Amino acid sequence: MTSEFQIQGITAAELAAQYGTPLYVYDGDSLRGQFTTLRELLHPDLEMFFSLKANPNVSVCALLASAGARAEVSSLVELRTALLAGVRPGDIIFLGPGKSEQEIAACLDEGIYALVCESFGELVLIDAAARERGMIAPVLLRVNPAFAVKGSGLTMGGKPRQFGIDEERLFAETDLVKTYPAVRLVGVHAYLGTRILDEQVVVENARRIFALAERLATHLDFPLEAVDIGGGLGVAYFAGERDLDPAVLAQLLNPVVADFLSRHGGTRLLLELGRYLTAPAGTYVVRVRYVKESMGEWFAVADGGTNHHMAAVGIGSFVKRNFPMRLLNRDGDGTGPWHVTGPLCTPNDTLGKAVELPELRVGDLVGVLRSGAYGPSASPVLFLSHGHPAEVLVDGGRSHLVRRRDTADDLLRQQIRY
Ligand SMILES: *Cc1c(COP(=O)(O)O)cnc(C)c1O
Repeated sequence: MTSEFQIQGITAAELAAQYGTPLYVYDGDSLRGQFTTLRELLHPDLEMFFSLKANPNVSVCALLASAGARAEVSSLVELRTALLAGVRPGDIIFLGPGKSEQEIAACLDEGIYALVCESFGELVLIDAAARERGMIAPVLLRVNPAFAVKGSGLTMGGKPRQFGIDEERLFAETDLVKTYPAVRLVGVHAYLGTRILDEQVVVENARRIFALAERLATHLDFPLEAVDIGGGLGVAYFAGERDLDPAVLAQLLNPVVADFLSRHGGTRLLLELGRYLTAPAGTYVVRVRYVKESMGEWFAVADGGTNHHMAAVGIGSFVKRNFPMRLLNRDGDGTGPWHVTGPLCTPNDTLGKAVELPELRVGDLVGVLRSGAYGPSASPVLFLSHGHPAEVLVDGGRSHLVRRRDTADDLLRQQIRY
């Protein structure tokens, strides 16, 4: 038996009445707690960068920034979001394999800490843009390592990739520093995977990236001002998964950091966190519109679905695994397997398949929990033209609309009848 769902004393029913559904709601205490708990445990010299890709809402970013997060951005709008959220330019890095000249220019003009360079072609453009401005561009080299560490949802090392520059190619270079006079190599970046739930894997990644950075800086002969060990820390979504233990992670990782710093005092160390910081804080709230039976199975058809929550279709798996879900607006009696589906005209629009839930009724609110990362911004919000849902942040015991729901006029305005 569960009780009515609430965030800081505000019930889902109140939020739905005030802001409508479908709706994303974020708990500010959870966001802050997730950041602060890890911050207090980790080696103080390991700086935590929030990857805006996981949740690009400016208020979410501002809350994390006020708790001390730096920012890792990958587009012009993400860069502007981080600046609007109050992140200092000196605490922003820009990453991504397909940066435009406009984005490179913006990084230089804003004076961000470093561009994370992903190809030789990009080095040419960064060098040219810096020269035009009479500046020296700070660059972290993103390396596609020859090794991979197992235990991640999506492995990034040891494979042909569009990300970074192959380790072998970099070690074949001799005069990289001289070739791009307006570029200052400040360090090395590697990102080896996402959804990592094993503390040992994070530590092993860090150890190998530190070693790679030392070898590369020696080979290319530049002072190692910074090392970005990526991140990819996961959260548990599915049956059988468990959350990372921040205390265990810190206990294992801190000595590796300290060991590196004993040889490289003053080197800036970066850790990138997206999902880990925002996923637990978010709930996707939908309202049941219809309840129906088909061939002995029960369906609750809701007003929102995978158009706002594509990850619920399944992450890296052919078998559908359900995100944690619950009835939000009341205690429920009994349970049974429910298919919770959305309004789209595709059988893929299934938020939860055969989820054990109390008997659902029309008007009930159902929540998909742990949904604060890779939600609407990583979903086909325009599919069937429903548009972006509203987003609400609960902070200090009050709810704040942090993104308006798209209206029909918003969506039609972008189309042109020739
Ligand atoms: C996506 C991405 C992140 C954030 O990943 P999470 O798994 O959400 O923490 C960080 N760094 C890079 C390079 C990424 O591509």
